[in-house]
Amino acid sequence: VFNALPILFDNSYVQLPPQFFVEQVPVPVAAPRLIKFNTTLARDLGLDADALERDGAAIFSGNKLLPGSQPIAMAYAGHQFGGFVPQLGDGRAILLGEVVDDRGRRRDIQLKGSGPTPFSRRGDGRAALGPVLREYIVSEAMHALGIPTTRALAAVTTGEPVYREEVLPGAIFTRVAASHIRVGTFQYFAARGDKDSLRILADYVVDRHYPEIKDRGNRYLALLEAVADRQAALIARWLHIGFIHGVMNTDNMTISGETIDYGPCAFVDTYHSATVFSSIDHHGRYAYANQPAIGQWNIARLGETLLSLIDPSLDTAVDLANAVIKAYGERFQTDWLVGMRAKLGLATEEGDDLDLIQALLALMQQQEADFTLTFRRLSDLAETDDSEATFAASFKDPDSAAPWLARWRERVKREPQFPIDRTRAMRQVNPAFIPRNHRIEQAIEAAVEDGDFSLFEALLTVLAKPYEDQPAFAPYADPPQPAERVVHTFC
Ligand code: AMP
Ligand code: MG
Ligand code: MG
Repeated sequence: VFNALPILFDNSYVQLPPQFFVEQVPVPVAAPRLIKFNTTLARDLGLDADALERDGAAIFSGNKLLPGSQPIAMAYAGHQFGGFVPQLGDGRAILLGEVVDDRGRRRDIQLKGSGPTPFSRRGDGRAALGPVLREYIVSEAMHALGIPTTRALAAVTTGEPVYREEVLPGAIFTRVAASHIRVGTFQYFAARGDKDSLRILADYVVDRHYPEIKDRGNRYLALLEAVADRQAALIARWLHIGFIHGVMNTDNMTISGETIDYGPCAFVDTYHSATVFSSIDHHGRYAYANQPAIGQWNIARLGETLLSLIDPSLDTAVDLANAVIKAYGERFQTDWLVGMRAKLGLATEEGDDLDLIQALLALMQQQEADFTLTFRRLSDLAETDDSEATFAASFKDPDSAAPWLARWRERVKREPQFPIDRTRAMRQVNPAFIPRNHRIEQAIEAAVEDGDFSLFEALLTVLAKPYEDQPAFAPYADPPQPAERVVHTFC
């Protein structure tokens, strides 16, 4: 009888020394129900999607362990809002194991909300339905937007309550990631002065994520450079689409360069560079425009952990690491500018472009323009003058847009592209649809209050094609009405 395994696990992290993790099985739940399964992702991962979906409630709740799974909770540390915590670790997550996908890429499969572990501290190890739905929606939207991110494979409800400020339905999220290794994983061993483990971790990471640098002269400096490059590129992409991560602690920054840990994240509606949504970010440490600098701060913390591997002389190691940290700033600036030029439809480079871009952002901020709509409507304007009034309508004083538009039109005249091609290119980088906070809240409320997942499903459908006009979903492109506006997000 042909009896293939639904997931062909190929686990490598569990082969690392015992101080890297704790063996931990998920704690079973009372009455699991599968609420969403990502068939497309399952197939891309080479999994048996039909078998998994059939038995999804048991498998993705952790009630049933599949053969080949070697469940562990990973150890890590981290700076939370600037304060160092030497031991965090997976307090409510379990790595079930790894698979190698259909493109040869190794992927982690992890349950989040699967019960307490030795790293839980005072936490219950569980997750509430709302945050699970938010992570599902936003991570899949980020993927469709073309931004490196962890993915959503499944979501289940547990049939058990979780106790937060109120009693909420419990849920478990199944996350897929290039890996769950964080800046904080390096910090965990550095804080213990465990240089052997640091080297083992660094070598593992090079093999898994950066094989191209394996034979470089200074492998550990090259690793720091590679991570810095990916993070600079990633955070530039966040800014291009108005994403605010909300909790960029060093334990929430991956070594792979994927966005991870969608807690109090949110997208900017009305543009302001100092926008903060997270209810726990009281001082705006993780505000929209602070993210590049925080990324650099986090990379500096990674650099510190690698110093003794980079060079036996501390002075030399510090100089080398500092050069990387400086280069991060330049890399970010370059990536950001390239992406912003594309958003404005500029295929060529001119010295004045940065000023043109900053003038638009300043105008948007002053005029309380919707970030996403402004750029999408500008894309339409690239082909015709007809929609100028529509563009201007997103500004508090519509007349205020005219001088900037005139300047942009002058600039665009010097572009070699045909207008129709410019419009097409702009529409591929300026989304019509983002996961707007009020839509997410509405979807969560319907699911939590009424067990109605139709809004959740509708959001997933529309956000799967963020760059396409989808007339049937037109209202999903609209900013919130004043009464719908979400001011704070909670994790
Ligand atoms: P986060 O703020 O989601 O990045 O989590 C920070 C740390 O708190 C990590 O070590 C998590 O595993 C842990 N944690 C968060 N929520 C819980 C929970 N409900 N139970 C146990 N640990 C948790
Ligand atoms: Mg986290
Ligand atoms: Mg979290």
